[in-house]
Amino acid sequence: MANFINVILPIPLEKSFTYSVTEEEAALLKPGMRVAVPFGKSKIYTGVVQSVHKNPPEVYEAKEIHELLDEYPIVNETQLKHWEWIASYYMCTLGEVVRSALPSAFLLESETLVLRNTEYEIDENELLDDEFLVFEALQHQSILKVQEVSSIIDRKNVLPILQRLLEKKVIVLKEEVYDQYKPKLVRYVKLGAEHTSDEKLEELLNSLTRAPKQSQVVLSLFQLQGKSQNPIKVSELEKSSNSSKAVIKSLVDKGILEEYFIKTDRVNYDGEPDNSDTKNLNEYQETALLDIKASFAANKVTLLKGVTSSGKTEVYVKLIEECLEKGLQALYLLPEIALTTQLIGRLQEYFGEKIAIYHSKYNVQERVEVWQNVLQAKPKAQLVIGARSAMYLPFSKLGLVIVDEEHESSFKQFDPAPRYHARDAAIVLGHLHKANILLGSATPSVESYYNVQTGKYGYAEITRRYGNVLMPEMELVDIKEASRKRKMKGHFSERLFMEMEETLKEGAQIILFQNRRGFAPLMECLTCGHTPQCPNCDVSLTYHQYRNQLRCHYCGHHTALPEICFACGSPDLDTKGFGTEQIEKEVSALFPEAKVGRMDLDTTRGKHGYEKIITAFEQHELDILVGTQMITKGLDFRNVNLVGVMNADSLLNFPDYRAHERTYQLLTQVSGRAGRTKKRGRVIIQTYNPYHQILKQVTTSDYEGMYTEQLYEREQFKYPPVNRIIKVTFKHKNYNVLNEAADWFAGALRTNFGGTVLGPEYPPVARIRNQYLKHIVIKVQKAHSLAQTKANIRRIEKSFKAVAMYRSVRVIYNVDHI
Ligand code: ADP
Ligand code: ZN
Ligand code: ZN
Repeated sequence: MANFINVILPIPLEKSFTYSVTEEEAALLKPGMRVAVPFGKSKIYTGVVQSVHKNPPEVYEAKEIHELLDEYPIVNETQLKHWEWIASYYMCTLGEVVRSALPSAFLLESETLVLRNTEYEIDENELLDDEFLVFEALQHQSILKVQEVSSIIDRKNVLPILQRLLEKKVIVLKEEVYDQYKPKLVRYVKLGAEHTSDEKLEELLNSLTRAPKQSQVVLSLFQLQGKSQNPIKVSELEKSSNSSKAVIKSLVDKGILEEYFIKTDRVNYDGEPDNSDTKNLNEYQETALLDIKASFAANKVTLLKGVTSSGKTEVYVKLIEECLEKGLQALYLLPEIALTTQLIGRLQEYFGEKIAIYHSKYNVQERVEVWQNVLQAKPKAQLVIGARSAMYLPFSKLGLVIVDEEHESSFKQFDPAPRYHARDAAIVLGHLHKANILLGSATPSVESYYNVQTGKYGYAEITRRYGNVLMPEMELVDIKEASRKRKMKGHFSERLFMEMEETLKEGAQIILFQNRRGFAPLMECLTCGHTPQCPNCDVSLTYHQYRNQLRCHYCGHHTALPEICFACGSPDLDTKGFGTEQIEKEVSALFPEAKVGRMDLDTTRGKHGYEKIITAFEQHELDILVGTQMITKGLDFRNVNLVGVMNADSLLNFPDYRAHERTYQLLTQVSGRAGRTKKRGRVIIQTYNPYHQILKQVTTSDYEGMYTEQLYEREQFKYPPVNRIIKVTFKHKNYNVLNEAADWFAGALRTNFGGTVLGPEYPPVARIRNQYLKHIVIKVQKAHSLAQTKANIRRIEKSFKAVAMYRSVRVIYNVDHI
């Protein structure tokens, strides 16, 4: 009898595809192995085997596979189950999940572009003949399609060869050529090579008798080196020798000390393996830990609500320690890649080289390496830290899942499919492994807290900051009043200005939060009121001073700053609104002595951008940091005593049922950056609405109040967590077609669901990249079966696609849209 396999192709196909295999191949093949297969007229894809069986497909003739690519499954059965759940829950195809789950190096296909890896010297003698042919071709042509490689070596089947070339670091894939993510570099020092022997050192010290400060530094360094094998940070030396940066710098300039840099989060850590004990918990942390364990014992997902700087991380550490001792794997999810930087340094002290880092911006080699390490349950990857995509790794004995900052909306993938929520998908993964699951936040999402209230989740809390540091003192400043009385210095109220002066005098640091980037979002003509618009999107262009441009934040369109109004030709143009760039400029003018930095999408784009700024701020090379949302998240700065929120209103006015919850979370989080050590921090929130309920709740840390009120509203308007929502987006370049299509779909939905269908409506930006958009929101009561609802929607979509005119309309589902 013939043998077949079902293969998941990494493309949006409804079903897996059946291929025929030989008897021998069938004996070798297992679910989770990769195969190279032909598809369509001439395409080659890498697919993942879903099942091996003997049932020929009914409607087509099964093609033969090209080749087996693995000797053992690289995807395990739990993963397959998990991915099936993701596809079904988030209404996408399994192929889309595979495409998002596997590192692209695992998914070579005919369309993949390969380039020479210029970072490595290749020893040609190590290449096999066919490998050499490819290598040689890439000397003449910088970029090759896999198909072209195929004709060069005259073989249909080139994926295995390319796979080997990737492993040998001869080639890289096109989509991997980016430098968005660069690990943080920390400065270390050592004694210059020529001074390392005992005599030389003595000689050196003698020569420094006239420079007591310098000789103190050298002695301190010597002592530090004696105490431990670990590399010595510049900041550490500065502290232990009680000296300054300037003294160290002069020693470096003289060549007595040598500076060097180490990436803090690379895959291989070669400090000493976990030599330091974890910290002893204080009584509040201890209680929380016990509560968490009790809740775990009852098999409950558990929420840890701990105020900012309460030491949640140290509690996680205890749980991780226990998990690893049992020989199990732990997964630690963070909402943002950037956050891994600070955390890794901290965790490496405890877990040394048991830590692996994984996220989408990691280079392909390292991602494949981590994948393999996790697959083989190597000690090297017992604790995996990462952003969303880390939950796709091939865990086989997961014992603990931690989702830190669980309220963060960046856990939700927006585009492309699968539009999954990494927190929720990680919970499902945890259940599949029977692992313990902990969610942590200072400002839990209304959903998670609701799950606690209804008894679905367990709960633990820490209500005090570690070391009895007080929560920062918060103050609302009415800028409406101040503007009326002309008491503002630019965008700074007198209060904020005074506090800044005071803070700088004390030698402490300041964070200023402004919700927008750019200099002044809009440019307006004073004569006719015209504001330049993006030609591709229905949105005004934003003014960026630093490039002297108008830019579209949706499609990247940009033009030079106009000198006269596009509409009426008047030269009287003005800017409206304000962003981080303008704040930065004003600060520099108000405090010329202070060193000011800015952290937003624009300043963190380039090489090392993000890490440079954080490190500079950490090491107090900057006094004031102006930033967007980016600075609010989980960063632990030691010396910040003042946080200023430039304008809280822009957050509140967001047209979204979550705007209030988000404002509460954001303001509480940014405030949490203040006064994390001894001295009580201060937060100044400037606003036109000082009596707004949410702002009051923020200043009094009234989470319960916020929750109760928000829940009431969600109940009234049938939003999550009381109901579920599915958002359906329609996209088309023709305005009329889009309208008709959306109306048709909404009509069909209404006949099925009655009053729980909202829309169709245009989003605030109704055209992006020349595509018109319209949304429908479906509210599904918790009592109704979600699966049934989805099946109904799918049925409607089938009839929809049967209408010729609608076939080209893109329909996008976003389940649990946030
Ligand atoms: P959170 O994650 O709740 O914001 P962190 O875990 O970052 O808080 O802790 C805040 C600070 O307190 C950190 O610098 C941390 O090292 C310190 N800390 C927390 N718990 C302890 C402990 N048990 N012993 C010593 N230091 C601690
Ligand atoms: Zn004009
Ligand atoms: Zn645009």
